Amino acid sequence: MWDGRRYHCLDYELKKRFGEKMYKLSLDGGMTCPNRDGSLGYGGCIFCSGEGSGDFAAQMNTDIRRQLLQAKAILGKKYGGSRYIAYFQSYTNTYAPVSYLEKLFTEVIQQEDIAVLDIATRPDCLGRDVLELIRSLTAVKPVWVELGLQTSDDRTAALIHRCYPTALYSQAVSNLHQAGAEVITHMIIGLPGENRNTILQTADYIASCGSDGIKLQLLHVLRGTVLAQMYERGECSVLTEDDYISLLCDIIARLPPEIVIHRLTGDGNKDTLIAPLWSCRKGAVLNHIHHALRLRGIIQGCAPLES
Ligand code: SF4
Repeated sequence: MWDGRRYHCLDYELKKRFGEKMYKLSLDGGMTCPNRDGSLGYGGCIFCSGEGSGDFAAQMNTDIRRQLLQAKAILGKKYGGSRYIAYFQSYTNTYAPVSYLEKLFTEVIQQEDIAVLDIATRPDCLGRDVLELIRSLTAVKPVWVELGLQTSDDRTAALIHRCYPTALYSQAVSNLHQAGAEVITHMIIGLPGENRNTILQTADYIASCGSDGIKLQLLHVLRGTVLAQMYERGECSVLTEDDYISLLCDIIARLPPEIVIHRLTGDGNKDTLIAPLWSCRKGAVLNHIHHALRLRGIIQGCAPLES
């Protein structure tokens, strides 16, 4: 058990490693995504609402110190801790010349109150020069790299327009580990065409590739996305709360105990969320998840994979 929780949660991990709970400062590195700028496609992944600035050249003047101050001000007094996780969240945060990335990341990681540099990106945007930069940054402080895998099924990947083969993900995990970084993998539950088997296969695959952490996310249909058009045409559906929680329990039972679960569900933006609306009650949903884990007697890793 992890501080009384039935799964290896991030709060527990942070207290163990850093002695305190830490909050993330969401930063915008001013980058776009090859799946949106035309390099691979224009529409992006079908669920992606494309929030962010999206033009790194226009953002070269982004004052990252000011962003850090603003992000801390947003957290305000509710956070009494002394250190933070600097999280480059929007779009693909290694999709820029390495000289740009070096300046940006170095400025942030050198801040005294930044304990971890956390970079969200795609496996196909981790060339040798970027990996070398990550290696040098890990000599300063821990570096987490978040990879948007979403599914291990290449048929689903084609359907959601992810635009890279699954095999690239496992190579990226291995390269990042060699560079000294930790990997957090994003997985979406409820993608079109997927069933319990394909969903559990993705969880098993993430575990077998050695990801250090996982972010589990319910599929959200957001206004303005290709997925929203499909949903309105009746070409896909969303999960009920009961189905989501049941799948989540099965996944938690299979994940090895050492994998840190960074998220159990997502925060749907209430202004743009079309479905499922039950996911807006995040506190209640989390309570229901904890209740279901207790009821089914599930502790993370209690039903390990057969190797
Ligand atoms: S890779 Fe990420 S940023 Fe790019 S389109 Fe897909 S979800 Fe959006």
